[in-house]
Amino acid sequence: MNLIVMGGGAAGIFSALAAKKLHPEMPVLVLEKTAVLLSKVKISGGGRCNVTHACFDPGQLVKNYPRGEKELLGPFHRFQPRDTLEWFESRGVKLKTESDGRMFPMTDSSSTIIDCLLSEARKLGVELRLRQRVEKIEGTEKGFTLYLKDLPPLSCTHLILASGSSPEGLACAEALGHNLQPPVPSLFTFNVPTSPLKELSGVSVESATVTIGPYVQTGPLLITHFGFSGPAVLKLSAWGARYLHDQNYRTEFFINWVPKLSQEQLLQKLFQLKEQSPQKTLFALNPFYFPKNLWKQLLNFSEKSLAHLSKKELQELAQKLHADRYLMEGKTTHKEEFVTCGGVTLKEVDFKTMQSKVCPGLYFAGEILDIDGVTGGFNFQNAWTTGYIAGTSISLEGRS
Ligand SMILES: Cc1cc2nc3c(=O)[nH]c(=O)nc-3n(C[C@H](O)[C@H](O)[C@H](O)COP(=O)(O)OP(=O)(O)OC[C@H]3O[C@@H](n4cnc5c(N)ncnc54)[C@H](O)[C@@H]3O)c2cc1C
Repeated sequence: MNLIVMGGGAAGIFSALAAKKLHPEMPVLVLEKTAVLLSKVKISGGGRCNVTHACFDPGQLVKNYPRGEKELLGPFHRFQPRDTLEWFESRGVKLKTESDGRMFPMTDSSSTIIDCLLSEARKLGVELRLRQRVEKIEGTEKGFTLYLKDLPPLSCTHLILASGSSPEGLACAEALGHNLQPPVPSLFTFNVPTSPLKELSGVSVESATVTIGPYVQTGPLLITHFGFSGPAVLKLSAWGARYLHDQNYRTEFFINWVPKLSQEQLLQKLFQLKEQSPQKTLFALNPFYFPKNLWKQLLNFSEKSLAHLSKKELQELAQKLHADRYLMEGKTTHKEEFVTCGGVTLKEVDFKTMQSKVCPGLYFAGEILDIDGVTGGFNFQNAWTTGYIAGTSISLEGRS
């Protein structure tokens, strides 16, 4: 029995470690096509690596996966963020939690995570080969033959595909009998060339609700040079990834700047202010505590006192604050984290073991699956969890 893992990213390395730890005699080989292992871990989270998220209830955790929610529930009962935390801490890497739940190494450096994973690989005796591009895989009687670029073929009894969103990995999965969900980007920011707010780049609000078609997200919103970003927009781009792709990233969307109040409540508040402080301007009162320059842009009449504002003007303002319309015309890749939605069809995989239901001996881990999470450490958690389950399942099979 021997295991080959295709892909030296988070899922591939973690699955190899899990397999070798439980079954030290089994040869475990990781093939990485580039000259660098864990390259996405390196650049992740702006170089700090958002390893996981401080959400320890599997039922809550799965709600952060636009694709994979149902399938990950069982796996998260076996390996969840608490296990990730313990795994790294027991190897000397302390993690810290930020106010929004994201977890990073105390060092604020992704190299800490990489060093930990690679030193564990050395300790356990996992073989890591660089510049080994798998081009084709064939099923054989005893397992698999892997054909590499400019190198002799390799064979194995067990195979984990952990090649992320790479087209070669997806083609190999397809050749071995799997159906694919077409890949489309997730986690991006919205371009709004006509936005009058672009000059306010860098200004943010703590809570706004953004709506596109049937998709709604509430959270911090950031104004950028191109349009809008921030957690509300990124989460919306994940939940609406396919919808937005089908719209060719050109569609109207609405911002509710005061999500705590209904439009009617907003209007009543404005009428009340007019009654109480007729001589003051709405700009000076700033009743919803907006950043000053944003409030000025949202108001068409910053100079007029409330006494001079008509009922119609106040109604229009309430309407604007409740459903401010913008036109998305394209997207921009978010530098801190992005993923691909789509991949190996989930119903063809047994999530108790991560083994293929159509090709025995074949396992999957990480982003190659049609699983992706919202921003915040959920995508790496998918890699750790599915990698752990694939690796342990194979080694347990070998030991039984
Ligand atoms: C800029 C950026 C920042 C991110 N930040 C975060 C973050 O902070 N937190 C978070 O949770 N998620 C983050 N993500 C998402 C996260 O990086 C991915 O979800 C995760 O890396 C997926 O792991 P994986 O091992 O499945 O795939 P990958 O990390 O993509 O690894 C796949 C590996 O397979 C190799 N490979 C591909 N094809 C072949 C082949 N034919 N032969 C051999 N090897 C092959 C690739 O070279 C690669 O090394 C970020 C993503 C990006 C792009």
